[in-house]
Amino acid sequence: MTVEEGAHKDNVLDFALQQLDETAEIIGLHPDVHAKLRKPKRALTVSIPTRMDDGHLEVFTGYRVQHNMDRGPCKGGIRYHPSVDMDEVTALAMWMTWKCAVVNIPYGGAKGGVICDPTNMSDGEIEKLTRRFVSELVTIIGPDQDIPAPDVNTNERIMGWLMDTYSMQKGYSVPAVVTGKPIAIGGSLGRAKATGRGIVFVAREALRVSGIPVEGARVVVQGFGNVGGAFAELIEEMGATVIAISDVSGGLYNENGLPIGELIAYAKKNRVIEGFDGGDVISNDELLALECDVLVPAALENVITAENADTVQAKLVVEGANGPTTPDGHHILISRGIYVVPDILANAGGVTVSYFEWCQGIQKLFWQEDEVNRRLEDIMVRAFHDVHSRSEVLGADMRAAAMALAVERVAEAIMARGIYP
Ligand code: NAD
Repeated sequence: MTVEEGAHKDNVLDFALQQLDETAEIIGLHPDVHAKLRKPKRALTVSIPTRMDDGHLEVFTGYRVQHNMDRGPCKGGIRYHPSVDMDEVTALAMWMTWKCAVVNIPYGGAKGGVICDPTNMSDGEIEKLTRRFVSELVTIIGPDQDIPAPDVNTNERIMGWLMDTYSMQKGYSVPAVVTGKPIAIGGSLGRAKATGRGIVFVAREALRVSGIPVEGARVVVQGFGNVGGAFAELIEEMGATVIAISDVSGGLYNENGLPIGELIAYAKKNRVIEGFDGGDVISNDELLALECDVLVPAALENVITAENADTVQAKLVVEGANGPTTPDGHHILISRGIYVVPDILANAGGVTVSYFEWCQGIQKLFWQEDEVNRRLEDIMVRAFHDVHSRSEVLGADMRAAAMALAVERVAEAIMARGIYP
């Protein structure tokens, strides 16, 4: 991924803890379990000495946080970004615990990061940094312990180096140590579009329960990368009309619908959608305020806030990005009757197909793409309805319900295992 992040990252750990505390209150969480879940199981900081191309030695700092392992090994991506810090990585690890629990896959949450700016580094420098970072993590990651994946500014190539470095240390190939790796070394078919496809399934279900037909639904998407691009393409195939898209260069609006296939080809060639002749130019702020059936923020954290939530005119907000809505922004959307499908449910398709990749790697038995997509649909649709039913029982919004379901599942595992010793 190459998303530009960091500008709005303040207090993400405070947000994550606030969400947990609110959920604990709603579900009457046992205080022992609450205390345990407020802190990560393990947090490691490492130095990563790396010989740069000009000969000098740069010592980078890297983190791996394992929030919880009660339901299974930890799962979570590794990001390379100048603004990475321990609080951010801890919050993201906690969100991974909830995300895996919401879709009921047998993992806890983890996250990793290195403070660096890969846009100013050569491929060789990134490879050396990656291999040394993995060497520092080798005792705490593994198919039964903690399985990394790509995140911001890391990709399948970097996951290939991760798999190779870990395997070199073990003396044999260990494909299941990482997901999001190239198909040639055990990556899963269907992984590339899995997050976007998962969002399509939950958006379809959310439209259904809201009584809005998918056919002709008016959809707005912020972000046109891995997540936003795949989502826009697949929801268009389902008969919806994508009336606006944006990326870092700005937005495009066409009330009759944008031609997504052509726009993807254009963005591939030109790196951004700017200059595409097929819609009116709008800003990212204008895009968020468009009247539509479904708004999918699929770019950055903290884009719907207390400052702009009252301008949102969508009937449904389906969160493609991680943390696109601040807690204050969320409360405003809910008070205005907007149906919000939270990130830990909506974008869980990526980690779900990562789970399939891990299963295939362990079994050394690989599935056809239609089997991957069918199993993904089963899991996403079931998770959506689990959360929807919980929201009706609790009389709460979908975020509160998803958190309640997730924290209850993790709490049940903690209680079943007991506190060691
Ligand atoms: P990406 O780098 O492929 O795409 C990001 C898109 O956002 C690009 O089109 C970029 O131009 C756009 N963007 C950047 N800054 C912007 C701005 N200021 N305004 C509007 N658009 C802007 O990243 P991605 O993989 O699509 O990830 C997007 C989000 O989804 C992130 O929050 C990520 O954490 C989350 N997510 C990704 C996955 C996955 O499988 N890739 C899974 C779960 C969650």
